[in-house]
Amino acid sequence: MDRIFGGIEAGGTKFVCVIASGPNKIYAEERFPTTTPQETIQKAVAFFNAYQKNNNIKLSALGVGSFGPLDPNPTSKTFGFITSTPKPGWKNSDLLGPLKSNLNIPIAFDTDVNAAAIGEGLWGAAKGLDNFMYFTIGTGVGGGAIINGKPLHGLLHPEMGHIRLKHDLNFDPFEGNCPYHGDCFEGLVAGPALQKRFGQPAYNLPIDHPGWDLVAHYIALAMSDFICSFSPQRIILGGGVMQQTQLFPLIHEKTIQYLNGYVQSPVILENIHKYIVPPKLGNQAGMLGSIAMAMQLF
Ligand code: ADP
Ligand code: ZN
Repeated sequence: MDRIFGGIEAGGTKFVCVIASGPNKIYAEERFPTTTPQETIQKAVAFFNAYQKNNNIKLSALGVGSFGPLDPNPTSKTFGFITSTPKPGWKNSDLLGPLKSNLNIPIAFDTDVNAAAIGEGLWGAAKGLDNFMYFTIGTGVGGGAIINGKPLHGLLHPEMGHIRLKHDLNFDPFEGNCPYHGDCFEGLVAGPALQKRFGQPAYNLPIDHPGWDLVAHYIALAMSDFICSFSPQRIILGGGVMQQTQLFPLIHEKTIQYLNGYVQSPVILENIHKYIVPPKLGNQAGMLGSIAMAMQLF
């Protein structure tokens, strides 16, 4: 019989809990809003324990892909904590500890974007690749990098949504929306930034609105920065804003333009539409990624 795993996509807005053996074997799923740490973690524990009891099974492991910033360092005293988030109640709160003590199974813990990257690498758009990146452009902007087959952590973990981009205030006077940096990547193109800039939710903007060209411009600047930094074999762009699929060809064209012939690979120069791609797991990348993380413990 297949091993059965638990997964949590721990978001700042909602938690998605799932029980599965793989992408086509999802046995149960529950979503609830992220309230206080205590209440939210309690609900997750109750979901997994009820499933185990009712089905008389034991989960082999749990994977947790979480919003952050968080502490991903297993040797640290605060491993598994959410650290400096502005989200009320969650600053310096222990997410992993109470899951461990209540579930008593092995747990893999990482950022939400690393989890999604791991899922896309195992079953999705980056299958078979050792070096690739996954970005979400949604409520915030976050990036996960798989380098030599492993998620990159470094000192803490990358915050790729907060890089600074060239921003000509004469051409584009929008000051940005990041509470820390104003016009960083996230401050310019995350959903809330687009809402502030255009005065209406991004999903209401017509697809031929000239604003999309500007959005693609900033995303392409970021892509050229990340291609130069990490030399990924592929880049996956997900999240609510990327539901606007008209962005892809604009991003392709501008990324090539901004690299300006310097990175000499046919993968980019001739096949960029296969290089910067949407997630294959769609909006399941996060929750399936958490299952993939749990599976990787075996
Ligand atoms: P989260 O980042 O919270 O996990 P999403 O990736 O769905 O969730 O991102 C939500 C953000 O994306 C919101 O700001 C929303 O306005 C924006 N968004 C959602 N769907 C679309 C769409 N079809 N087009 C443009 N923006 C969208
Ligand atoms: Zn920022």
